[in-house]
Amino acid sequence: MLSLEQLSQIVKEHLGLYMLIEGTQYTSKWIISESALGGRGIFATEDIMPGDVLFVDHPLIRGPRSGTTIQRGCTICNKLDGDEFFKCPKCGLLLCSEQCQNTNRHGDDCDIIGGWTKKVPTEEIDDTLLSRALTAIRSLLLNEEQKQLMLSLVAHMEPPHGSEITRLKKYFDFSDEDEQMMILACCALDANAFQIASPFGVKEMSTRGLYPVAALMNHSCVSNTRYTFNSDLQMTVKAVKPIRSGSEIFTCYSGILWGTPARRTYLYKTKHFLCKCERCADPTERGTLLAALKCFVTECPGSMLPVEPLKLSTRWRCLECGLFVPNKNICAVQGALGSLMGTLDFDNVNELEYFLLRRIIKFIPKTNQIVVDLQCRLIWELGESEGLRWHDKFRTYIGTVNTCHAYIFFNVYLL
Ligand SMILES: [Zn+2]
Ligand SMILES: [Zn+2]
Ligand SMILES: [Zn+2]
Ligand SMILES: [Zn+2]
Repeated sequence: MLSLEQLSQIVKEHLGLYMLIEGTQYTSKWIISESALGGRGIFATEDIMPGDVLFVDHPLIRGPRSGTTIQRGCTICNKLDGDEFFKCPKCGLLLCSEQCQNTNRHGDDCDIIGGWTKKVPTEEIDDTLLSRALTAIRSLLLNEEQKQLMLSLVAHMEPPHGSEITRLKKYFDFSDEDEQMMILACCALDANAFQIASPFGVKEMSTRGLYPVAALMNHSCVSNTRYTFNSDLQMTVKAVKPIRSGSEIFTCYSGILWGTPARRTYLYKTKHFLCKCERCADPTERGTLLAALKCFVTECPGSMLPVEPLKLSTRWRCLECGLFVPNKNICAVQGALGSLMGTLDFDNVNELEYFLLRRIIKFIPKTNQIVVDLQCRLIWELGESEGLRWHDKFRTYIGTVNTCHAYIFFNVYLL
């Protein structure tokens, strides 16, 4: 394991190439140090103001996400699977065009995979599995220092992390050394990778990047930074609140507009920890009521919230009538809501609108994260869909949602 000094040095070199922001050199206002949360974290070395750029990170490796439900797409431009798609005869990776096949990036991928002995003909290679493993395969292109930086990050070592590489051995022969490096990359990716947002309105294969400096930030559900990607996939991390010299700098690994049960379950499943931050400990989540459900008493207009949100088995209680409900009944409602959401066609504006205005609000309070999420999706679709740009409806929604989101952001970010 690298010492703090060695790690700081490698991080400085990694960022060094990208230290110029808008033509001005900036000096970092933070250091890497031991965190009270365990492991390492990033700490302010001077008072930082909202809007200050903390750093601009760039990915060590990037590529398709590894989930089994990820849509198939071109492994170079991320365009979703269409009629023209084909497998590269040399490596078996899915591509959309000759243009993508002739890129340097595919050349690199193809050199690695094409260099392995195939155990089956190309047609029989599972290209979905190959795509899920591709980001880790690209770790074989890193130089020694970059590998060290990757390996210094927290990693989820226990199976099934890395299983996409083990399963690839059905199709290819590769060296034990390559196998080990790729498995370590999977473990580092699963613990640290950031999902890369698609450009506005573009539907494409979901991708991720291993941003090593951003990965050093610990999690908080009321994080003091936010990040954005530019078209070169550089990640700019900025402060969103004043950060006092000496305080830890955090990011939020989960959706910021998710309610506590959703955030904690996600963090536990993907990052293997149960968050105990002040937002998670507050049943009302600073008054935003993002997780609230409607009271089970038909005539009662009240919202129900968890009594002890840090306990997974907590009872819930109605804020109006005081009714207590056991956790298993709450889980049943949450499960049913999840299934209901699963049936929705998110591209269909009319269906979304009908669902939001007529159906879902009968079952959940307007503060619930599902309502907030649907409002965001409607804005997205109404603003982007042909014939719906700057429609009257759009303005009405913008009005409602802005008020609602301003309130949530104010409470979550600024207090
Ligand atoms: Zn392509
Ligand atoms: Zn190829
Ligand atoms: Zn939390
Ligand atoms: Zn009630």
